[in-house]
Amino acid sequence: MNVYTSSYLKSILNSKGMESRLEDADYIIINTCAVREKVKQKIISYLGKVDKIKKEDAKLIVIGCLSEVEKEEINKKFKPYLVGLFDKESDLENIGKLIEGDVYKTKIGSVSRYLPVIFGCDHFCSYCIVPFARGREKSKNLEDIIKEAEEIYDEGAKEIILLGQNVNDYGKDLKIDDGFMVLLKEVSKTPFQRISFLTSHPKNFKLKWISEFKDIPNLLQFFHLPVQSGSNKVLSLMRRGYTKEIYFEIINKIREEFPFASVTTDILVGFPGEDESDFLETVDLIKKIEFDRSFVFIYSKRPLTKGYQYEDEVPHSEKLRRINYLIKIQDDITLKRYGEYIGKEVDVLIENIKGGSGIGKEKGGRVVIVEDVTDDDIGKIVKVEIDRVNIRELFGKKC
Ligand code: SAH
Ligand code: SF4
Repeated sequence: MNVYTSSYLKSILNSKGMESRLEDADYIIINTCAVREKVKQKIISYLGKVDKIKKEDAKLIVIGCLSEVEKEEINKKFKPYLVGLFDKESDLENIGKLIEGDVYKTKIGSVSRYLPVIFGCDHFCSYCIVPFARGREKSKNLEDIIKEAEEIYDEGAKEIILLGQNVNDYGKDLKIDDGFMVLLKEVSKTPFQRISFLTSHPKNFKLKWISEFKDIPNLLQFFHLPVQSGSNKVLSLMRRGYTKEIYFEIINKIREEFPFASVTTDILVGFPGEDESDFLETVDLIKKIEFDRSFVFIYSKRPLTKGYQYEDEVPHSEKLRRINYLIKIQDDITLKRYGEYIGKEVDVLIENIKGGSGIGKEKGGRVVIVEDVTDDDIGKIVKVEIDRVNIRELFGKKC
């Protein structure tokens, strides 16, 4: 979401000219996150650094989740010109208007583009600060989304990624029955070569949708479904609203319908009450499911959340042992799964070229680094033979 708001702001402010050095800027906008305590500390220390080196009359604008939940602290320490969430396009345009002179939106040239369809979150998982920072769920109108999608296509994008903290909740607040599926089907009528969505919630991910996805030929076969834990006890303490059995059922159905899909997840280790047997259940789940990739985080206690009051904390050294153990298991699984692509041909949509190599994704959303591409290939789907892999990417040559 923050990547999107930053790129949207950039497209507005490009018309004013951008400085590459903080020391020269008249306005400095910092987009923040609040999901973990460490991130908060980094941002506060960065704000301190910026405050020291900026021009005396330069105006500081702090947006994103941290600026909403720690408004008072940021106001007191740094006296910013503006501080708050600013997540919707209209909020961002208002920032543009505050800066003197004309502002007009410039083209964003990327092949792959994000489009937020629902803001906020109603779930209140007991570890998570997001609902307090981003507020309740608010879906955009379907007609507006289609119009924005068409504009994004006209700017040259070939892939669109529909965004939401819980994208599967799309349309609930608008009382659209099965809103997420209605949205997906409507967006699939636009001429994008690829359509994707992020992030899904296992609680709202309906099994019947998985068969319906097959009717959407341009759907990227990529499913990010954060499981957080493999223990039903911990899932319940986290207020996730599903069991590991339900989670297995979803993944089995995805793999049955889309054998080449990539399935990725988020996992939280060291939540209060997670004992060794709960942890081993997570290990077992990872081994059984064999995710393409897992993003593992150490639990960080956040203010305002229900989990803040939970006792029975896991010692930091134990959290570290658990995260390292899971990362090692997942790396081996990724290498095994990705390794199966060596010698195979995949269709890659080339998004850009960096350091002489093309970067894109194959049909299952796996990142592929491609040799021998030219600027002409950007935005096109090319056939690539995979010759090696690592824990993040597949590598190959254009056929
Ligand atoms: N809406 C998404 C995730 C949003 S936050 C969902 O429901 O899954 C992204 C990830 O950050 C989460 O999946 C979780 O694994 C991690 N996260 C959230 N709160 C955290 C906390 N307090 N400490 C550590 N990681 C956290
Ligand atoms: Fe946070 Fe849970 Fe909402 Fe995801 S669903 S943003 S983890 S509260």
